[in-house]
Amino acid sequence: MAQFIRSTTKYLTEITPTLLGSGPEWTSVFTPGQRVPTSGIYRCKGCSQEISANEGNPFPPQNHHQHALLEVGIEWQLIVKTNAN
Ligand SMILES: [Zn+2]
Repeated sequence: MAQFIRSTTKYLTEITPTLLGSGPEWTSVFTPGQRVPTSGIYRCKGCSQEISANEGNPFPPQNHHQHALLEVGIEWQLIVKTNAN
């Protein structure tokens, strides 16, 4: 799980996503090799592993990590957006 300390909370801003604005980038899931749409920290919905990923790069390949239950696929979801304006 992503962590922070009290003195670094000033660098985090809570936002309220909107359906027409930034909502989809927070709810979309991405599979291995897809293009990263937004720089940030992503969490695998299958195992909770986290990665940092840069916009425009591909998400890690399928063999990046394995799940105990192979039928659970790797799906990356944005949890912290970085360098947001
Ligand atoms: Zn995983």
